[in-house]
Amino acid sequence: MTLGIFRRGLLMLLVALGLTRGDLAKPSKLVNCTCENPHCKRPICQGAWCTVVLVREQGRHPQVYRGCGSLNEELCLGRPTEFVNHHCCYKSFCNHNVSLMLEATQTPSKEPEVDLPLILGPVLALLVLVALGALGLWRVRRRQEKQRGLHSDLGESSLILKTSEQGDSMLGDFLDSDCTTGSGSGLPFLVQRTVARQVALVECVGKGRYGEVWRGLWHGESVAVKIFSSRDEQSWFRETEIYNTVLLRHDNILGFIASDMTSRNSSTQLWLITHYHEHGSLYDFLQRQTLEPQLALRLAVSAACGLAHLHVEIFGTQGKPAIAHRDLKSRNVLVKSNLQCCIADLGLAVMHSQSSDYLDIGNNPRVGTKRYMAPEVLDEQIRTDCFESYKWTDIWAFGLVLWEIARRTVINGTVEDYRPPFYDMVPNDPSFEDMKKVVCVDQQTPTIPNRLTADPVLSGLAQMMRECWYPNPSARLTALRIKKSLQKLSHNPEKSKVIH
Ligand code: ADP
Ligand code: MG
Repeated sequence: MTLGIFRRGLLMLLVALGLTRGDLAKPSKLVNCTCENPHCKRPICQGAWCTVVLVREQGRHPQVYRGCGSLNEELCLGRPTEFVNHHCCYKSFCNHNVSLMLEATQTPSKEPEVDLPLILGPVLALLVLVALGALGLWRVRRRQEKQRGLHSDLGESSLILKTSEQGDSMLGDFLDSDCTTGSGSGLPFLVQRTVARQVALVECVGKGRYGEVWRGLWHGESVAVKIFSSRDEQSWFRETEIYNTVLLRHDNILGFIASDMTSRNSSTQLWLITHYHEHGSLYDFLQRQTLEPQLALRLAVSAACGLAHLHVEIFGTQGKPAIAHRDLKSRNVLVKSNLQCCIADLGLAVMHSQSSDYLDIGNNPRVGTKRYMAPEVLDEQIRTDCFESYKWTDIWAFGLVLWEIARRTVINGTVEDYRPPFYDMVPNDPSFEDMKKVVCVDQQTPTIPNRLTADPVLSGLAQMMRECWYPNPSARLTALRIKKSLQKLSHNPEKSKVIH
């Protein structure tokens, strides 16, 4: 019932915003659009974009409203609901021939009929508040529902969403604004799509197992665009789902901007747009850089903070489920310009909520990176129905990342070259069987360099690695313990040699 009122509020707000169009500030670039709704004075209107809105009012047939959108309107910032489906496009009269289907199948709730035009004026202010609340509530309710992709090839990207003063970060403004509140951490879907279509790809900065990462420009700011191959659409789907349903803003988790699916010439393009970090991955960084112990610790602590944030369940409206990563490795950790790490690539992640005891494994056929697989994954003894098991495999992999960092740390003037874990025990691109032989049968772990004992910080790190690599998964450290021990180590390396 309450939800029904909220939804109705949202619907009315959308329509009302269409009515107030004339009062709003004029956008910088205007297009002509077809105007077909009860409030059009003429058959043509001018706006920053054209709109088509399919509205279903209580007990009536769906109605198509065509009109104009201007910069201050929220019409294109909403998500489709059971009652409304909307479309924005940016060329003159591009709304003329667009037909929309009602996305929803849900039956509208039985509420008394309301005469929309009559009540609009007095209740508009109230509706704005109600609608904002509704968005939050609605997104919580939709948490487990699959995202319904809105497809349309807009083909141009001239819309300016928001004016911003020179030097300000438009992305920062966007992501910090109220429209990102609610249970999700991202922008509303239509804004995501608009942002995505305004990104110009500049250079390819990396190729992964299943796609490419490009540096792109959005209104002068660098963004990273991960283009998934169609083979890996489940990773795109999963990552999109997690970033859109979980409040994941954290300094040490890669910042999400937008996700977009377009279809061009019958092939589907899947994009994930995130913050861009020019140092690239920790793997890239360690190839180029040797580290002073304090920098090694900074990288380790920040990565541990990211992992601890993923692993913890936070209760309440601003909460999050516990998340296990399942593909932790130095290539999936990025180095920010402040030399803190952030964790990337949630395409394989699993989520768990204690209150509902719901384990959401997703259905991605991809598996983690073999080199980083824990023994219980390699010998297939892992209890796949138990969420804790997935966290324990992350800890194994985290220990390997610590080892990669430690090798590149200069102690008494000596340091080693970068090598991936088990470089001396398995061939390049090891098979599952190669890894299983080394990790399960021979029970090997990477060799911890002796020189680490000469440094209080690094000897602490060495001890921590050993405790990440216990064959018994439940005996391993937790991410929270790792984070706390590392923090202690960075504050007082001498006193925290024993890290229990
Ligand atoms: P994989 O994790 O399999 O290496 P990805 O497709 O996730 O593949 O990333 C490929 C490479 O692109 C990374 O190793 C890194 O060098 C670069 N990269 C990924 N994301 C970003 C980003 N947000 N900013 C800068 N570089 C990135
Ligand atoms: Mg990756």
